[in-house]
Amino acid sequence: MPNSPHTYKDLAPPRRLLLGPGPSMVHPRVLRTMSTPLVGHLDPEFLAIMDEIQELLRWIFQTDNALTIAVSGTGSAAMETAIVNLIEPGDRVVVGINGVFGTRIAQMVTRSGGTVVGIEVAWGQPIPLNQIAHILQTAGPIKAVALVHAETSTGVWQSLEHLGPLCHDHGALLIVDAVTSLGGVPVQVDAWHIDACYSATQKCLSCPPGLAPLTFSQRAQDVLRNRKTPCQSWYLDCTLVADYWTEGKRTYHHTAPISMSYALREALRLIHEEGLEARFARHQRNSQALLAGLEALGFALVPPAKQSLPTLTCVSLPEWLDDKTARSTLLHDFSIEVGGGLGPLAGKVWRIGLMGESSTFESVMTLLAALEQICSHVAPSHSLGQSITAALKEYSAFAHP
Ligand SMILES: *Cc1c(COP(=O)(O)O)cnc(C)c1O
Repeated sequence: MPNSPHTYKDLAPPRRLLLGPGPSMVHPRVLRTMSTPLVGHLDPEFLAIMDEIQELLRWIFQTDNALTIAVSGTGSAAMETAIVNLIEPGDRVVVGINGVFGTRIAQMVTRSGGTVVGIEVAWGQPIPLNQIAHILQTAGPIKAVALVHAETSTGVWQSLEHLGPLCHDHGALLIVDAVTSLGGVPVQVDAWHIDACYSATQKCLSCPPGLAPLTFSQRAQDVLRNRKTPCQSWYLDCTLVADYWTEGKRTYHHTAPISMSYALREALRLIHEEGLEARFARHQRNSQALLAGLEALGFALVPPAKQSLPTLTCVSLPEWLDDKTARSTLLHDFSIEVGGGLGPLAGKVWRIGLMGESSTFESVMTLLAALEQICSHVAPSHSLGQSITAALKEYSAFAHP
C-alpha cells in the first residue's frame, strides 16, 4: 500500500535516442500539442480536427477513399480491423509469411474463421509475386491477398508492383500492412489498387503509439456492406466506426482519444510541411549512410540490398560481438535504443530504425560513434573513426548531407 504522499516521485524518464523498431522520436511540437486542453469528442471544434486528420491521412496514403480513419489503438488494432471486417468464416486468404507480422495476420485470419493459404519463405526474404499469381490462377476462389509492405522483423521491403490489378482480376482484395512504410517510403493506395491499408502512429509518422491510420477502397466497402454475418468485433466494426467519421452522421460509437488525435494531426502537419518526396529522400540518404558505417564495423545486411527498407535496417552481428551485452551498453552507457532479433533471428541480428524524426544525420553519427567505442573494446583491431568515415563518404554522394 502507498504509505506516504512522497512515495511516488515526479515522472522523469531518461532521454533516449530511439533507433529501434518503434516507437520513434517525437517532435516537441507533437508533445506540446498533447498537453493542450481537451474538448468533447462531439464538439464541433473536434469534428473539424477530425476532418483535417482525414484530409491529411488521405494525402499521406495517396488516396481518395472516403473510408479513411484513425483506429483507436495501435497498429495491431488496425490490422485486426482490416481482417475482422473483410474476412468471414470460410473465406480463403493468401498471406505472405516471412516474419512476425505476416504470421500475425495469418493468426487473425484463422481467428476470423478464414482459411490461410500461406506463402512461407525464409525470414529476410521477400514474398515472390509469381507465387501469388500462381495461387490466384490455380487455387480456386481467394477472398483476399494480405502482404506486409515493410516487414519490421526482418527489414524486408516487399514489392507490390502490379499486384492490385492481378488480385482484382481474380476477385480478390489486396490488404497491405504499411505500418513501417507509411511516411518513410512511398505508399500509393489508389495507384497500386490497394483495398485495405493500415499503419500506426509510432513508426514513420513519429507520434506516440495509440492511433492507427486505416483506409478502405470502395471495393472493400462493398465487401463490408455485403457481409453474411456481422463483424465479430463490436469495437472495430467499420460500419459502426465509420458513422462517427462521416459528415452529417457523427454517431457516438466510442470516445475518440482526444489528445492522441491532437498529436496525430500535428505529426501529419509536420510531414506535410516537409513534403513526401523530401521525406522519402531523407530516409533513403540516412539509411544508406548508416549501412555504410555498419558494414565498415563488420555488420552485414540481412535482406537482399534492393529490398532493404530505408526505415528499418536489419543487420547480422559480427561473430565477435555479443548481442545482449552490446545492446545493454548502448542503452545504459549511451542512452541509445536499437532492436534485437525476433523468432529465428533472435540473438543474431539488430533492427535499427531510422523512422520519421529518428532519421537524421545526428542519429547516424551518434549511433556509429557509440558502436565504434563498443566494438573497439571487444575487437581492438578496430580503428576508431572507420565507420564514421564510411558514412560521411556515403553522405558526400548526396547533394545535401
Ligand atoms: C509494429 C508493427 C505492427 C503492430 O503494431 P503495434 O503498434 O505494435 O500494434 C504491425 N505490422 C508491422 C509491420 C509493424 O511493424
